[in-house]
Amino acid sequence: MIARVSLEIALRKEFDYSIPPEFAGKVDVGTRVQVPFGARKVLGIVTAVAEESAVVKLKPIIKVIGEQSLVTPKVLRLARWLGEYYCCAPEVALKSVLPESVRKEDAGWRERLFVRVLPVAGEFPKLPKRQQDVWNLVEERREILLAELVTLAGTTAGTVRKLEDRGLIQITSEIAERDPYGREEILPTLPIVPNPAQAAALAKIKAAMDAAGPKEAAAGEAAAGEAAKGSATFLLYGVTGSGKTEVYLQAIAHALEQGKGAIILVPEISLTPQTVERFKARFSSGPLQTLVAVLHSHLSSGERHDEWHKIRQGRARIVIGARSAIFAPVEPLGLIIVDEEHEHTYKQEEAPRYHARDVAIMRGQMEGAVTVLGSATPSLESYYNCEQGKFTRLDLPERVDNQKMPYVRVVDMRQAARDGQGPPIFSPQLKEAITQRLERGEQTILFLNRRGYSNSLQCPKCGFVANCPNCSVTLTYHRAEQKLACHICGHAEKVPPVCPEPKCKNPAIRFAGTGTQKVEAVLAKLFPKARVSRMDADTMKRKDDYRRTLGDFRAGKIDILLGTQMIAKGLHFPNVTLVGIIYADMALHQPDFRAGERTFQLLTQVSGRAGRGDVEGEVFVQAFTPFHPAIQYARRHDFTGFYEQEMEFRTPLKYPPVSRVALLTLKGRNEDKVAFSADHLRRELDKTGAGFKDLVIAGPAPAPLLRAENFYRYQIMLRTRAMSRLSRVLADTVQKLTFPDDVTLAIDIDPVNLS
Ligand code: ADP
Ligand code: ZN
Repeated sequence: MIARVSLEIALRKEFDYSIPPEFAGKVDVGTRVQVPFGARKVLGIVTAVAEESAVVKLKPIIKVIGEQSLVTPKVLRLARWLGEYYCCAPEVALKSVLPESVRKEDAGWRERLFVRVLPVAGEFPKLPKRQQDVWNLVEERREILLAELVTLAGTTAGTVRKLEDRGLIQITSEIAERDPYGREEILPTLPIVPNPAQAAALAKIKAAMDAAGPKEAAAGEAAAGEAAKGSATFLLYGVTGSGKTEVYLQAIAHALEQGKGAIILVPEISLTPQTVERFKARFSSGPLQTLVAVLHSHLSSGERHDEWHKIRQGRARIVIGARSAIFAPVEPLGLIIVDEEHEHTYKQEEAPRYHARDVAIMRGQMEGAVTVLGSATPSLESYYNCEQGKFTRLDLPERVDNQKMPYVRVVDMRQAARDGQGPPIFSPQLKEAITQRLERGEQTILFLNRRGYSNSLQCPKCGFVANCPNCSVTLTYHRAEQKLACHICGHAEKVPPVCPEPKCKNPAIRFAGTGTQKVEAVLAKLFPKARVSRMDADTMKRKDDYRRTLGDFRAGKIDILLGTQMIAKGLHFPNVTLVGIIYADMALHQPDFRAGERTFQLLTQVSGRAGRGDVEGEVFVQAFTPFHPAIQYARRHDFTGFYEQEMEFRTPLKYPPVSRVALLTLKGRNEDKVAFSADHLRRELDKTGAGFKDLVIAGPAPAPLLRAENFYRYQIMLRTRAMSRLSRVLADTVQKLTFPDDVTLAIDIDPVNLS
């Protein structure tokens, strides 16, 4: 027998090795092995086992690592699709389906020393007092960690060893499983009786799950390009607080009843202890009791290792996690939930540049699982897929508690600018509303998606602007640290006392533009008594900061919470009755066809923070383009209206969702070489793309962010409906091309970031 192995060193090729007799029966698809490669020994994963190979004189596998194959054949199949569709090497795709901590050869379970009493044969010996005390403690606990015993009894390991020598206790080394949420106290919850809208949604989801059949019938593998039996995709469209999570919980329960597991994806930022707790609580007891594993980037490597193996061993049937949890080895898989499916953080911005929502849909199709996408502001892609009949839409039109949507007022900042001297940060209306809240003891959330103090330093005399030396962006002024910083590459420099232009030297240089630091400073002047807290990447540096600030806000120790997108999502504070959006147009003026969609989503989400208690909420949206459709439809909470007008703009231009985009970015330190390579690539694409009826090729053009971290960037954008086919063509085309040494090409299929 021979094994085909994908090596962990990136080589874009797989190699055959013979399976020596001592490993017979131990090597299967997904097994990790060590193999010779040239003079080296490298790690790899078996992707196929066959009778023979076309290659003669195969080298044998050196070592089999781990007892259980790490990747299930199903996840392996998903990884292969990932590599093909997103145009990346199979070993890169494979790496992303296995966490680093699981892949590493030496990472393992944590072993700890446990102490237990042994049955006493014959008469119990007379012990010195200290030893007797220790024995009593162990007796009482039956089993205790050695370290804990030593502290508890105020003794030494030596004393405990003496008891072991007498044969009274036993000290053993055992695996102590790490539990990242072990310290949380979790109270079990019961299902809530669903309201009619929830019941209707659940009925459809369950019916689809039943069509897939019970565990035994779930083996049905779909032929390539065809959906497995029972797979179906739903879009659960419901405003915040409409009871989506309860629908998820009851659908998961149904999967467990069928003997299957579930994966729940949430954006990293919403993966708060409260969210995790809601899922753990429901399945912590009762007949459907199971472990809920959690996978995200804030776990220690050891914790991730343990969580992953709990899933692989089938002890945890439910997985909740961020993007990469979509590759969790849940088997058999009945249900996948993608909460906040419109979130851009589901897209990985490095190779493999996959979109976890789309991988979820593909995995559901391959494994005959039902996929539920949930959102209050669905992506245009998902909504369009419903209109096209590919997904089924399920609506939860009202909040569970029948609360009204907050009242949204759009404030025309051009007016405020004309009335005063230049645009103020706070319009008189917003200022007045904040004053009221402070008087009534209610809370306010203020939102501005830009950190720092000012986003540019200018000289009014000569026109000098402080730019980053490595990127084509202005430097942001951070007042607390008295520095100018680049938010792309991290470059930082001191603030010059005078204009740095040698011929100018004007001391009256000015900061323009507003960031959260400046808003904080202005708040301190306007409302000196208010307790203000700022949440942005500069103030939230440590793991605990986020949690602590939100805790203080919840406890009423903060009157005004000011922050960037960090505060836009998922927070529920009943005492917040006012939300102010300082500058709503900020995301609108970006060279990205999704700018309107993003603004609409952001405004809707931020507004959703107001009025979640008994008092009706109020939202002030300050804008310089108050009549922009994204702002006006958000004001009226009208998603369908927004969808329709946005489709009118995108359809003739063949932008997603009516077609798909591939973005090719060439970068290098020499602009001429980059531009030249881009032209060359374009000519090749004109040839290889000739077979596509609907292909639009745009560019090459300088990227919106022309220079980043000292690299010049040029882009070519391709649009077609037949992206799977185009991906293959792109991979072939690129394989044949050679670029100058220092020019690299990145292929981004279905990009969300066009800069
Ligand atoms: P969403 O996920 O859409 O924001 P949730 O599922 O979190 O909504 O529901 C909001 C609140 O309403 C939660 O506290 C939840 O326990 C409660 N809830 C959900 N469904 C019902 C129901 N059918 N009856 C009563 N309360 C419910
Ligand atoms: Zn920079």
